[in-house]
Amino acid sequence: MVENQMIQPVNPYLLLTPGPLSTTATVKEVMLRDWCTWDRDYNNIVQQIRAELVALATPATGYTAVLMQGSGTFSVEATLTSAIPATGKLLVLANGAYGDRMGEIARRIGLAVRIESFGEISPVDPDRVRRILTEDPDISHVAVVHCETTTGMLNPVAAIGAVVKDFDKTYIVDAMSSFGGIAIDINALRADFLISSANKCIQGVPGFGFVVARTKVLKGCEGNARSLSLDLYDQWRTMEEGGGKWRFTSPTHVVRAFAQALEELQQEGLDNRCKRYLANQRYLVEGMRKLGFATLLPDLLQSPIITSFHSPAAADYSFNAFYQALKQHGFVIYPGKVTVADTFRIGNIGDVYPGDIDQLLVAVENSYPLARRNSGHV
Ligand SMILES: *Cc1c(COP(=O)(O)O)cnc(C)c1O
Repeated sequence: MVENQMIQPVNPYLLLTPGPLSTTATVKEVMLRDWCTWDRDYNNIVQQIRAELVALATPATGYTAVLMQGSGTFSVEATLTSAIPATGKLLVLANGAYGDRMGEIARRIGLAVRIESFGEISPVDPDRVRRILTEDPDISHVAVVHCETTTGMLNPVAAIGAVVKDFDKTYIVDAMSSFGGIAIDINALRADFLISSANKCIQGVPGFGFVVARTKVLKGCEGNARSLSLDLYDQWRTMEEGGGKWRFTSPTHVVRAFAQALEELQQEGLDNRCKRYLANQRYLVEGMRKLGFATLLPDLLQSPIITSFHSPAAADYSFNAFYQALKQHGFVIYPGKVTVADTFRIGNIGDVYPGDIDQLLVAVENSYPLARRNSGHV
């Protein structure tokens, strides 16, 4: 064993990206020891996490949680491949890259799929969902993204859920970037599967995703998966029967960090966390508007998670130069992802506070002229 050395965390910048995001020193600190993946103490942590995720998702009974190795997309793929039988047909309600990705996953798996696009800057319309379900009775499952991280838009998942259940279909919600940051009751949404990951609003580090599922529905998924490693049912059964065991090597350090992140969420309180993200977002938008930037979405459709801004119209603006200049000031932002407009994105989630946003705004003010000057040379 090497003698312990002082480990100084070095964070050259604050992440204003929706995952991975800036985490607390205490979340990082608990990763400084090793765990045995099948040891009882470790498995107990897994069981506690599963119970806490269910409690966070709803006060109602009849739900369970399963953790899955990999980034969030692995959990989306695990859900789609495990939930939908060979005889099923999936309707994907898409208004951004993450909805499109669910469609792409379904195609790769070879599922019968209908991808309904609502454009990039309009929310999913529940009335249109009703019309589709009326005219296409083969559809058995409906999937939608709660917060479309592509733009920052919030979709009306409860209203969509009511329609989906009028037709008695299975409802899958990608709440990747909202769960833990916005109060969600899976039972009130009437969702059967709700997907998120460690490195978004719960403020853990990347390495696994999780699915909160209606137990009765998940129990009916045995044998559906076209993938061994992504079989959500098998993973769930192993965790249930083995008291927190994973089928394959689990991201032990990440799991321990996640338990700490959940504890910190409990200390802060979900409502306070949501208020903090909202305050970050309002500060940001007010300040950016004062600096002459415009948001892609109207405020009514905007989530507290991430905001898309139009790129400045100046011919000499370059995102890369802007990005590099902000990075020098200690902030990392995201490029845009929509095709309808030239944009960039700034996230508000993670260990980020209104005071950080104040500093960011100063950095933007200083960086934008710099970005102008530097453009063409990057
Ligand atoms: C982050 C995210 C995902 C998953 O992305 P990964 O890069 O695989 O972690 C899926 N859907 C939404 C809405 C997201 O924000």
